[in-house]
Amino acid sequence: MKRVLRIAREFHWEMGHRLPFHESGCANIHGHSYRLRVEIEGPCDTNGMLMDYGDIKRLVAPVIDRLDHCFLVDENDDLMKNFLTGSGLKHMVVPFTTTAENLVFHFLDELWTVFMPYTQVTSLRLRLQETDISYAEAERSRPK
Ligand SMILES: [Zn+2]
Repeated sequence: MKRVLRIAREFHWEMGHRLPFHESGCANIHGHSYRLRVEIEGPCDTNGMLMDYGDIKRLVAPVIDRLDHCFLVDENDDLMKNFLTGSGLKHMVVPFTTTAENLVFHFLDELWTVFMPYTQVTSLRLRLQETDISYAEAERSRPK
């Protein structure tokens, strides 16, 4: 019998964005109370732990803190870049449109490098919730 173990911790933050290509509401400046569920898979150690939840927090929190109360700007969105540059307002320019799909892949790439040194982690799965009723999910596993 093969058993699979996964543990997860959730992270919450507030962030503004807009989707310039969007033909209805999402082109406007708005924000979300984002939630990211960071789920890892792997075996238990002799203490019965896959990873300390405190360690997961320590690894992920810096990534989230950079984005909390930040405005995320697509590098092609000149309107917002011109407004925010030199404004002193917290913002981050990224090389993609700030959809939940692109964001979850962005987090997956960044967090994969963070978790990779922990060899007990065989898989990383992220669920990014933009609202209570919508999310994007992505997963990456170590080569077998
Ligand atoms: Zn939005």
